[in-house]
Formats: sequence, C-alpha cells, structure tokens
Amino acid sequence: MNNSPGQLIVLAGPSGAGKTTLAHHLVETFSSAAFSVSTTTRSVRGSEIEGVDYFFVTREEFLQMIENGYFLEYAEVHGHLYGTSREWVSRELALGGSVILDIDVQGALQIKETFPTSILIFVLTPSPDVLSSRLLSRNTDEPDVVLLRLEMAAWEISWIGSFDYYVCNRRLEDSLIQVESIFRGESLKISNTSFPPEVRAFTPERFSGREYWYGKKVIVTSGPTREALDHVRFISNRSSGLMGCSMAIAFRDAGADVLFVTGPACFSRPSGVDTISVESADEMHKILVREVARADLLVMAAAVSDFRPSIFHDGKTERSGTFRLELEATLDILEELDRSIDCMCPVMAFSLEFGPDGEKRALGKMKRKGAAAIFYNPGDIQGAGMEASSNQGKLFFTDGSFVEVRQSSKRYIAELLTAAMGRYLMKGNEV
Ligand code: 5GP
Repeated sequence: MNNSPGQLIVLAGPSGAGKTTLAHHLVETFSSAAFSVSTTTRSVRGSEIEGVDYFFVTREEFLQMIENGYFLEYAEVHGHLYGTSREWVSRELALGGSVILDIDVQGALQIKETFPTSILIFVLTPSPDVLSSRLLSRNTDEPDVVLLRLEMAAWEISWIGSFDYYVCNRRLEDSLIQVESIFRGESLKISNTSFPPEVRAFTPERFSGREYWYGKKVIVTSGPTREALDHVRFISNRSSGLMGCSMAIAFRDAGADVLFVTGPACFSRPSGVDTISVESADEMHKILVREVARADLLVMAAAVSDFRPSIFHDGKTERSGTFRLELEATLDILEELDRSIDCMCPVMAFSLEFGPDGEKRALGKMKRKGAAAIFYNPGDIQGAGMEASSNQGKLFFTDGSFVEVRQSSKRYIAELLTAAMGRYLMKGNEV
C-alpha cells in the first residue's frame, strides 16, 4: 500500500526541444517513475525499438483503438497519430507510481482536463535557430518535414500559458536539474501527501480515533452521478471526486477495509481498495442496498444528482427546433436507505450548501437522512469545495458536538474527519 499518490508529469513542447532526454532522465533518477510508451502510426526511425520507443501500428489499427477507448489522449502530429494508453497510466498511478509522458501540446491539454492535478512542463529551445539545427542534425526527417515541425512549433508555443512549468533547454545539465527539482518539489506538496508523522506527534489528540477503523468495513461513495437523457447525453455536476477519493485513502490508511463506490470522476482510483463504478443515482442506490448491512460506516461523499430527465430517449436525439427538458427528482439515497434497511450502518453525510443558512440546512439534512454526522462545507468560499483541491467546513454530530476544519487540502481534511468520526463512534455514540 502506498501513501503518496504518484504524480502524472507531462513534458510537452515542440519536437526537437529535448523532451525525450529529460523524460528518460526522470525515470532513471526516480525509481517510482515510469515512462509511458506511446502508440504511433509513424514508421520506425533509426534504431527505435518496438515497445521501448513506441508501439508501431497502422492507421486502421489506431482508429480501431480509438473506437475501443484505448487512449487516455491522442493527437495527430505532423501527419501521424500518437496516443497514450489509458489502462497503463491508470494502473501505474493506482499502484502509487509516477508516470512521465513525452507528448505533444494537444495531448498535454487533454491530460490536464482529465487529470487536473497533472503537472505540465513546457520544454523549449533557447531560439528558433537552435530548434531547427537540432531537428536537422537528428537526420531523421526530410527537410520538408523539418519545416512542418517548425511551423507547428509556433502554434504549440501559443499554449505555453496553460502549462505549470517552463524549462528552456539551453544547457542539458541545467535542464536535467530543473526537471528533477520540479519532480522533487511536487512530491513535497502538501496537497499530495498525508499529514507528516511529525505533525501527528505534535498534536496526537487530533488524530486519535483513527485506530477505531482498523479491520472495520467502510463504504465510501464518490464523484458525480450521470443521469441519461438519451444514449449519448446526460446531466451531471461539477464534482471531481477528489474529496471521496481522499476519504477512501484516509480510511484505507487507518486500516479499514474500504469499498469505494464511485461515479464517473476525474481522479484515478485509490490503490488497495475494492472499487465499484456506477453511473446514475439509481445504480449507486442498488449497490448500497446490497452492501450497507455488512458495513460499519457509510461515507456519502458522492455528489449524487438531485434531478434526472423525466423521459429517456432511445439513440441520439436529433438537433432540430426546441428541445424541452423536463426533470424529476432522483430518489434520495440516504433517506431511502434509512427507511428501507433494518440494520443500517452509521452514516457520515456530506452537505455542500450556499448562503448564510447553509449550516442550518446541513443540520436539517443530517436529521432527515438519519445520519450520525454530516460534514457541512460552504460552497461560496473561493478555492474550496467542488473542483477545488482544498475544502473547509464543520463536521457535526447528532449529539450536538462538532469539529471545525479550516481550509486545507482534501487529503488532510479526510484524515481529520476519519479520526473525528472514529473518536465519536468509539464513545459508543451511534446514531
Ligand atoms: P516523434 O515522431 O518525433 O517521435 O514525435 C512527434 C511528436 O509527437 C513529439 O512532440 C512527441 O512528443 C509527440 N508524441 C509522442 N507520443 C505521443 C502521444 O502519445 N500523444 C501525443 N499527443 N503526442 C505524442
């Protein structure tokens, strides 16, 4: 089991800037890092080896792989298709490793969209002349292809503002140190780590209660749900799934046996937990009905859709005229479980609320849903809540007590909530 989630590092920029050398340097320097071997339709160049430099396929094969959902990202670069394996990247990250991608700018932007916590590094030569002489000295492309690559470089550079870091590859030795520093710095980031042991030692009372979870079965729901309009379209919400994922990691690290029930979220699944993927509120409800009786806690961190289209249309609704969308309320999973399950486990609910009455509404929800505790987090605070890497709020318990957590990374909040919930249940306070 790995406590530190791996990093997804993307090196992009014009071809010839030296990305591949930098990528391989990271893999050689950090044992936790692995290089993602792309698939391409271009032909083998020089001493390139199948499976080491690229997987070489025909255009037909590549198009079929797109159809099959094989790629996490793909792009057409200089007339050839290039793509990254979804399964390989997800598996490496789930195992706690870091993944280094050497891809073009279009692919990098797709990755950032899918993995908002990925780190994008833009690599460039000190001048256009250096870039063209590097491309010509590689002796791998005809002069007209080199020209094409230079034209493409101008377009790629226009995206530099979307990147997290910039490395000007003037002297290789300096650039190697720079990418190494980025890797090391990122791994020290608060948002990527759990509470350091020193912090735990200074304030042990904040973490007491974690031990309660050892060997307990905890179900954590996460992410948004999707409510289908037709076979292609759906309505959903902005939940990234980071809070739920962090809760699953925190309970796992406290020794619990975690079942992670997730809607379509952006984050890779935590390693060392059983995961069930669902789409709609109904599907999530069905899984929970089957599982909650055997659980010691249900953590309802998922942002379940409150509404769904009243009518499902077969196929893909054609664009024409006006389309009237009527929504109906989805079933309230917690209320429904509380009503229908005899031996319901304690519940920790989550409540994102806006406005001055948010806290009151959250307390009302806790009561209505029969939850043992509810984490109220205000939605109108900059940088916290949905789509953000941090959060803040209050964990209220049914006995009237509460624990306040100030704005911090979702990973930290999850650890504090896990301990607080354990402390509460240890006292024999059930629902
Ligand atoms: P080359 O043909 O010189 O090996 O690569 C051409 C460009 O395609 C480079 O900028 C390289 O980084 C990029 N590339 C390589 N693999 C991938 C990939 O899997 N996805 C994307 N989007 N670009 C890639």
